[in-house]
Amino acid sequence: MDHSVPVMLIATTDPASRRILEDELRRRYGADYEVVACAHYAHGRAVLEGLRHWNRAVALILGCYGPADRSGLDFLRRAYGFHPAAKRGVVVIWGDFASAPTVFRAIAQGYAELMIIRPERARDEEFHGAITDALDDWHLAQGVGFEAVRLIGEVGDERTHALRDSLSRNHIPVGFHPVGSETAERTLESLGLRDPVLPVMVLQFTASPIVLENPSDLEIAEAMGVTRPPSADKIFDVVVVGAGPSGLATAVYASSEGLSTMVVEGEAVGGQAGTSSLIRNYPGFSRGVSGAHLAYRSFQQAWTLGTDFLFMRKAMGLGVDGALFAVSISDGSVVRCRTVVVATGVDYRRLGIPQLEDLVGRGVFYGATVSEAPSMAGRHVCVVGGGNSAGQAVLHLAKYAKKVTLLVRGPTLSASMSDYLISQLEATRNVAISCSTVIVGARDRDGFLTAVEVAASGAADATPSEEIEAGGLFVLIGSVPRTSWLPDTVERDPAGFLRTGASRDVSDAGSGRPNRVPLALETSMPGIFAIGDVRAGSIKRVATAVGDGATVVSMLHTCLAENPLPAPAPGGAATPEELPGDIRFN
Ligand SMILES: Cc1cc2nc3c(=O)[nH]c(=O)nc-3n(C[C@H](O)[C@H](O)[C@H](O)COP(=O)(O)OP(=O)(O)OC[C@H]3O[C@@H](n4cnc5c(N)ncnc54)[C@H](O)[C@@H]3O)c2cc1C
Repeated sequence: MDHSVPVMLIATTDPASRRILEDELRRRYGADYEVVACAHYAHGRAVLEGLRHWNRAVALILGCYGPADRSGLDFLRRAYGFHPAAKRGVVVIWGDFASAPTVFRAIAQGYAELMIIRPERARDEEFHGAITDALDDWHLAQGVGFEAVRLIGEVGDERTHALRDSLSRNHIPVGFHPVGSETAERTLESLGLRDPVLPVMVLQFTASPIVLENPSDLEIAEAMGVTRPPSADKIFDVVVVGAGPSGLATAVYASSEGLSTMVVEGEAVGGQAGTSSLIRNYPGFSRGVSGAHLAYRSFQQAWTLGTDFLFMRKAMGLGVDGALFAVSISDGSVVRCRTVVVATGVDYRRLGIPQLEDLVGRGVFYGATVSEAPSMAGRHVCVVGGGNSAGQAVLHLAKYAKKVTLLVRGPTLSASMSDYLISQLEATRNVAISCSTVIVGARDRDGFLTAVEVAASGAADATPSEEIEAGGLFVLIGSVPRTSWLPDTVERDPAGFLRTGASRDVSDAGSGRPNRVPLALETSMPGIFAIGDVRAGSIKRVATAVGDGATVVSMLHTCLAENPLPAPAPGGAATPEELPGDIRFN
């Protein structure tokens, strides 16, 4: 057997389930995976131990729970210790409703990640859908397979890390090879690069490979050639700034309802949600869905429906061009439109400790970057924050790290984190929670984080009371809205979030449009809308962001009907010359 082939392991003492699962999995997946079936859990554990010893990749582990087998959940819990990256599924029998509460509780505590109903007939596509989703998530997390882009750089370099993160979140298959590794050296030699400026990026999917040394976002966007700025005379019904869940939802609905739509995205599709390894509370995805998947599918949906996208380019300013708006883009172009939807979400709050800021990308990370988690294998990792994002990051990191310590400034987690996450954290054996604790400093070796210094929160001085070993520190302490590119005339609340609706003063804010009561998601500037996390009072969930994105489209129709384009010249649409050309930027 080829040792590079990933393994699927089934273990159950129920002979009927074992036979059905083994048959189904071998028939569908036997060509690509080695399917192993074990009749006893002790045997299953021994096989898993052996596979770990031989460094074999294990993609999926299945155990059963039902009247003929009560040990599968415990097996799956212990299997985590052997192969933390493997997807673990508990197989139940249709109609065994009595077992459901135990299974759901075990999933909430992290014993298994998904529940699958045993197939009772041939070609049970519901069963296979669950299996292929799990395998797809496993592959995405491993980053194995086809390399559309080869990236060569220093481990721990901030720019290299940002590129890996942004490419993988944009679903561009990227292979990272640390400089000095055999593949990196071989590639550089074959390209004739003796002393390149790192990171080096090789686009391998183009007719002849394109090589970029330390490229800017713009250079990458242009080399990829996926999206180009629209022609100067194009006028969009709506420009959406930000391709997080809210912006993508607007794109899907606006395009499907016939509005010409342009989405501008500065980093990667999916926004914050794209960094989440498992969103468990998005309706319709009973097994949970990875943020990257959800985002990519929404992007494809919007694209198919006709949305134009500008990637790796930021909106830098908003101007008024007569009856139109002009959004200035970081590549120097200007996109003109009749309405703007601001869906720019939020940025992570920084700790503001200079020692830590110097180590960003070399052990210190803002946000729960999914791509970084496997590199924490065997290390002690710290996470700072008391919210749901911090809780989810801890659970994801705990799959790889030796131990994860959550540092919380407040006295408890209950005020800031969902109960289900708190119970999962408490049930995870390699997680520790330290409340009433703040970080006051850091230690490093050769520019890499080795430990954080902590003190009791509220202590009179910042003298460290303890030093905690830390191979990685993930900071998730809240967020600030991304609105700096908007004119000051667009009203904010004291925290900087965009106010919408009729609850505030109404003014034309320089837009030249008539005063009227703003629509529910309209800002103080008529024709400019705000949705998702950037909106004052938003709920900060994927589903509510998507809800805002869908809702705003009916308001766009209202606004567009109020402000029709100038009548077209006989025999054609309005030409740029017929439209006002004196753009006023903020
Ligand atoms: C790790 C993590 C886990 C989470 N888990 C869950 C969960 O399980 N369930 C849940 O309901 N919620 C979860 N959330 C919250 C949820 O992801 C957010 O509420 C949601 O993503 C907000 O969507 P949004 O579109 O408003 O903004 P964002 O997701 O923040 O997207 C904004 C986008 O705008 C882009 N942008 C910003 N400024 C500009 C500019 N000037 N030009 C161009 N583009 C720009 C950004 O690059 C970004 O892609 C999680 C958040 C995080 C960080």
